[in-house]
Amino acid sequence: MLLSQHDGGERSDELFARAVELLPGGVNSPVRAFRGVGGTPRFIRSASGATMTDVDGRTYIDYVGSWGPMILGHADPEVIAALSEALLRGTSFGAPNELEVEIAEEIIAAVPSIEMVRMVNSGTEATMSAIRLARGVTGRTKLVKFEGCYHGHGDSLLVKAGSGVATLGLPDSPGVPAALAESTITAPFNDAEALERIFARHRDIAAVIIEPVVGNMGCVPPNDGYLQSVRELSRRNGALLIFDEVMTGFRVARGGAQELYDIHPDITTLGKIIGGGLPVGAYGGSKELMRHIAPAGPIYQAGTLSGNPLAMTAGLVTLRRLRDLSIYERLEQSSARLCEGISKAASAAGVQTITNRVGSMFTTFFTDQRVVDWTTANRSNRDMYGRFFHGMLAEGVYLAPSQFEAAFVGAAHTDEIIDRTINAAARALSIVNF
Ligand SMILES: *Cc1c(COP(=O)(O)O)cnc(C)c1O
Repeated sequence: MLLSQHDGGERSDELFARAVELLPGGVNSPVRAFRGVGGTPRFIRSASGATMTDVDGRTYIDYVGSWGPMILGHADPEVIAALSEALLRGTSFGAPNELEVEIAEEIIAAVPSIEMVRMVNSGTEATMSAIRLARGVTGRTKLVKFEGCYHGHGDSLLVKAGSGVATLGLPDSPGVPAALAESTITAPFNDAEALERIFARHRDIAAVIIEPVVGNMGCVPPNDGYLQSVRELSRRNGALLIFDEVMTGFRVARGGAQELYDIHPDITTLGKIIGGGLPVGAYGGSKELMRHIAPAGPIYQAGTLSGNPLAMTAGLVTLRRLRDLSIYERLEQSSARLCEGISKAASAAGVQTITNRVGSMFTTFFTDQRVVDWTTANRSNRDMYGRFFHGMLAEGVYLAPSQFEAAFVGAAHTDEIIDRTINAAARALSIVNF
């Protein structure tokens, strides 16, 4: 059955009509609303392995993976079994538990620059806390971030942000005090000279925060030597370097982008994969730095549900499975094959695309120019992306409902699933030009 472009499915349409009266825009997180591609969102009833099934009974091959966490696939049997057992022992203690120690050991062993870590409940909380730490330690106020990078929705970070902010084409958000927005300076990604000029003009920079591989304007890798320059400039100017590895941590390599590119930031933020599909974030760095955090030190940060035993359980099982580094080799191979297949299908259909990929995160941009920063990402043809998205959805492939997001391949995406996706892309791309 070929679906018309914006056919949402009866039950999804009905739920969305109810949802828009109850939730802002009908959703609890903006990009889910399909505003970047048109049409109404699918309501998902269940997910398993590489697929999700909506409330109308349609099954999709999923490349969103809950926006990154589901590297093992949905409802992984080992994760579910561990969760089922943990559930019976109680859902929250508000007191230390053994799992917090175990996940800290796992993270510290894997991520090169982390010697001590604090668990929180989301990526947003991790970056907000990391910034407080940087400001508290340096006694400085200003922050440098890069155009098109997204670090969660904290006040200081909603300036020229990627992800949903870029999808909706919003300028900076109302409700962010001007004084805070002014203390955030933005620079183009992949431009070390621009960062150098900022350091020459501003003395009061506490931290530079960066997605070492950007995922939130679509996938944009760092140019050769760029992260090295960012590292050196930050150090030379007394600013702390924060790698926001909420997306890249345990994704582009077990030790994240810092392992892949061999650059050691001062502070690292994590999220997504480390929660195995439950709400988790974390930030860490050297012991010297982290001992400034309460109660070891004076910089305050706390959380009622932080270190939650269910979240720690799902995260721990996931991170232990990812000790098997052959998973990353397989992800590299299947992702490379998928991206080649999509690129070839695009050429065959006469559609100009550029596919950026690092490991198992990638984006197909509808443009004919290299995408290296927000300016070049923003030249992509969003209407064509929207048609591709809906073409793929009709073919049973669920991509991110925005040009400015990364797609994720997981361990559950078998060769056969990759082949089906390439075939679907060939058909979807053949209608993109019309
Ligand atoms: C997803 C993401 C965040 C925000 O994490 P939430 O859990 O959604 O708050 C922060 N930084 C990066 C790089 C992300 O990809």
